[in-house]
Amino acid sequence: MIVANTAANVTDFLAANPSQDSEAADERMTRDAAVCYFVSMTLHPRQAGLIGAVLLTAGTTLGVKLGNDSTIGPLSHARPAVQVHFSPNGGCTDAIVRELDRAKRSVRVQAYSFTSAPIAKSLISAAKRGLDVQVILDKSNRTDKYSAGDFLAHANIPTFIDDDHAIAHNKLIIIDGTTVITGSFNFSKAAESSNAENLVIIRDAAIASRYVANWKGHRAHSLPYGGK
Ligand SMILES: [Zn+2]
Repeated sequence: MIVANTAANVTDFLAANPSQDSEAADERMTRDAAVCYFVSMTLHPRQAGLIGAVLLTAGTTLGVKLGNDSTIGPLSHARPAVQVHFSPNGGCTDAIVRELDRAKRSVRVQAYSFTSAPIAKSLISAAKRGLDVQVILDKSNRTDKYSAGDFLAHANIPTFIDDDHAIAHNKLIIIDGTTVITGSFNFSKAAESSNAENLVIIRDAAIASRYVANWKGHRAHSLPYGGK
């Protein structure tokens, strides 16, 4: 009975949240990576996000086109200290999936609305690779029709509900205790394709340690969630 319910829920979840990969998104991502690489090589990380945003906006406005992987070469493999993405359709989901697929040891998540199948599947893949993956969700996920919380809990990812606040509104992912992904971007299809959102990826161990401490504080008063 439990297995049958789990399979049905996972099928429903995936059917309602198809993957949104596209060549156009890949091209935008390559351009973003190139701009961010330039910024990270020339500025302090604290300045990089703002300047990167300005350059990216200017590049978009002027129609600057840096080409695909084959023309950019090594830049497509760069991992800038600070990276920014903007919705709608600015590659936020792809960027998160890419970071999760590179994770080596641990992933800590705190999410408000979480309906993104690509991100949920990447979390489960990370757990299957042996990583320590744990997720805290806002209490609305208990009643949301489609919550990745159910998908994750049924896949035996340690999943928790934080109902200690009016809303647990953080949207963050901490990878290997050293990289932070955060911003207004909910891990949802609407945030990717419909909303105005921003996503920042910060590779800084000192900053990440503060996010880890904050995550642990929320984890301490959260309750285990087994899915519905
Ligand atoms: Zn909390």
